[in-house]
Formats: sequence, C-alpha cells, structure tokens
Amino acid sequence: MASKDQFYSSLSQQLREIDEAGLSKHERVINSRQGSRVSLTGGKEVINLCANNYLGLSSHPDVIAAAHLALDSRGYGLSSVRFICGTQDIHRTLEERLAIFLGTEDAILYGSAFDANGGLFETLLGPDDAIVSDELNHASIIDGIRLSKAKRYRYRHDDISDLRRQLEHAASEGAKHILVFTDGVFSMDGTIARLDSIRSLCDEFGALLGIDDSHATGFVGKTGRGTHEFREVFGKVDIITGTLGKALGGASGGFTAARHEMVAMLRQRSRPYLFSNTLSPVIVGATLKVLDLLEADTRLRDTLEQNTCHFRTEIVTSGFEVKPGTHPIVPVMIHDAARAQHFARRLLELGVYVTAFSYPVVPQGQARIRVQLSALHTADDLRRALAAFRQAGTELKIV
Ligand SMILES: *Cc1c(COP(=O)(O)O)cnc(C)c1O
Repeated sequence: MASKDQFYSSLSQQLREIDEAGLSKHERVINSRQGSRVSLTGGKEVINLCANNYLGLSSHPDVIAAAHLALDSRGYGLSSVRFICGTQDIHRTLEERLAIFLGTEDAILYGSAFDANGGLFETLLGPDDAIVSDELNHASIIDGIRLSKAKRYRYRHDDISDLRRQLEHAASEGAKHILVFTDGVFSMDGTIARLDSIRSLCDEFGALLGIDDSHATGFVGKTGRGTHEFREVFGKVDIITGTLGKALGGASGGFTAARHEMVAMLRQRSRPYLFSNTLSPVIVGATLKVLDLLEADTRLRDTLEQNTCHFRTEIVTSGFEVKPGTHPIVPVMIHDAARAQHFARRLLELGVYVTAFSYPVVPQGQARIRVQLSALHTADDLRRALAAFRQAGTELKIV
C-alpha cells in the first residue's frame, strides 16, 4: 500500500500536469457587485461580457430591497431540510409562482440546478426504463442519469434522426417508460434545442420529454418563459429543471417544474431535496420579486434581445467568425487554444472581460471566446467592447 505522502505528491504531480497542458483554471477576483462593468483587484474597471447575468438582476435595486425585506421578516437561514422544519410560506409561494411562470402544475425547489438534475432521474425511473440524452447535455444531467438504474441511450447533438434511431433502439429493447432529456439551450454554442420536433417524436413513441432550461428561463421566448415558449411547445414539456443562479437573480438555487404527481414523488424520494438544506429566505424573497418584474412586462428581455442582435451583427461585420444564432451566448471562434487565451488577455488589457474556452470544454480546434450579453449593457458598453474586439483582433491577425 502506498503512503499518505505518496497520495499528496501524486495530487501535486497531477496538478502540475494540468497546468503544463495549459488547462488550469484561474479565478479572477472581482471587488465590486456583479454588473455590466466590474472592478478587478487593483481597481481596474472592465466591461463584463462573461456573466450569466442576462437580465441584469443580480444587483437590481428592487431585488436587493426584496432580499433585505425577506432577511428582516423571515431571517437568514432555516437550519433544516424542507420536511423537518425548513418550509416557510414563501417557499411554497415561490414554487407555485415558478409553476405558473413555466406553465406546469407544480414546482419543487433545490439548492441548485445541479441538485435538481442530480435528484431527478434516479427518483423517477428504474431498471426497466430508458433515458435518451443529447450527447452534449450539461454535466449535472450526465451525473444525474448515471445515478439512475435506467438504461441509457445517447443521441448525436441536436440530431433529430439520430434521436429517432435511439428511441427505436430503446423501444425495441423493451423499455417500459422512456424519457428524452436535453438542455433547452446549450451553453457553449448557444444552440436552442428543437423542442417542437423533439416533442412530436416523443409523442410518436409515447415518451416523456424533459429539459434543463438554465440558460433560457427568464428571457428566451416572447415573454421569457423559456425554450418551450420559443419553440411553441409551452405547456407540452413534461419536466423543466432550471437555476435561480443565472437570469433569475444569479444567487443560487434550482428547481424542477412538472405535473403534481411527479413533483410529489420528488418531495418523497429525491435525495438532494431530502438530505440537503432548504433555500435561504433571502433567495426566496428576492426570486419572488424577480418573477414580479418579469411578469409585469418584457422590457428586460427585449433590451437583451436588442443588445444581442446589435452585438451579433456588428461582430460579424467586423470580420469575426461567430456561431450563428439568436441567443445572447455569442461564441466568437478563434479555433487555436493558445491564441484564444492570448486574445482574452489582450481584451482584458483593453478593458473587456471575456473568457476563452478550449478543449476539453469544447472540441479540439474549436477554441472560442464566449461572449454573453446582458440587458444591462449600454450602447456605450457595446461600442467600446466592439472597438476592443476589432483592435485585439487586428493585432493578433484574427480579422
Ligand atoms: C448552469 C447550469 C447548471 C447549474 O446550475 P446551478 O444552479 O449553478 O447548479 C445546470 N444545468 C445547466 C444546463 C446549466 O447551464
């Protein structure tokens, strides 16, 4: 048996290898609130193009005020899981409000979307059942599916004919219940799943359809309900998981929205719900305010749409290669990993904060800068950001 010292030196060795391969992740420290501009250590203020703060609600004054109010009236923490003494009136209200917003019968809160996915599949499906999953689904979906005893089938990303083949395969192997599960929006490409076609196919096979709409809830679709609204299958998706940590205020928390009996079963059996603490009243109170804002009008998601459209048009006109689409995730393709890193560093010097993504997060040779727009970005922010892209792009001979 190896010694404890050997264990630690093996960890150090692996960390060196990660670093030498250029794959180390470094965390930049922000000394301000999250916003369209943030200040970094040393005081430098930069335009932020890499937050999931799609609607600018992370530091919205009304949301902060609602958080204070909840803190004062309901306290900081509940020191309990839900079924012992961790459910306040506002927790139930938020579940009901989320269900209405998303067009489902009920909803259940989790500590995160990661937990929502982690506690979904194992609870609902057994060894006689099948899960058919898009190959690019989020890590939390993959892990959640691994925990279940259902048979697993993967279809090629966004490939409806391969989905049909996998459904046929699952049916021919005698699956009792089949669940097709996909990200609503895929985070690296901004691809919006074709839920209309997927729904029809599921109907043909009698399969359930579930989506993780973390990159959509609050702004995708005409009234921001999500991918199901965008693809005109609102009310026709069986399961919607999502996060409170992106557009809906950006703190933390997640949910699963579905029919009554499904949510009821999750409350009985879902392990991250039963064995993990309830959401802080602060988050619950603030998210209720977020829903008030989003249901009152569509101004924020409309502004986001205009910003997205403007940035996408201008960046393409400037000569950059961009994955086409309409989502505020704008993948600016650089291809070479080292060059993408270099480009991001140069942009930061020019006052624009973006992150470069390379293998293994995206396929080899597809390194990119993932720009994420926010309703908070002003015309001036976008003008400056685009000027910085053009300057750095010219310097590095990308355009
Ligand atoms: C961000 C994200 C998650 C994780 O959300 P948390 O609430 O932070 O755990 C899960 N699924 C998808 C598709 C995401 O984009």
